Amino acid sequence: MSRSPAMTPGNPAEQDAACRPGCGACCIAPSISSPIPGMPGGKPAGVRCVQLDEHNLCRLFGDPVRPAVCRDFTFDVDVCGSERHDALERITLLETLT
Ligand code: SF4
Ligand code: SF4
Repeated sequence: MSRSPAMTPGNPAEQDAACRPGCGACCIAPSISSPIPGMPGGKPAGVRCVQLDEHNLCRLFGDPVRPAVCRDFTFDVDVCGSERHDALERITLLETLT
């Protein structure tokens, strides 16, 4: 199985503006209402997706069963910040505001 960052592949040429491999914050902090293999009802905010592996990479990357919401989520420095902790905090805050 190919391994990739949780949401979007990191681009080594644009490390300060790209998804950080092994971050996985967007697979833990937000709620996801779409069915996920292994989580048919989606997942609540703050719960680790069962498809996030021990390296914080998505097991379903490139697989058509990966939820569309995951495929559509792209790195945004305003959300992802400069480190994993930023992303966890910011996404958690966004969850409480929406
Ligand atoms: S929170 Fe941002 S940096 Fe972290 S895995 Fe998701 S898209 Fe990548
Ligand atoms: S399916 Fe993959 S990309 Fe989507 S939340 Fe789970 S680990 Fe993250």
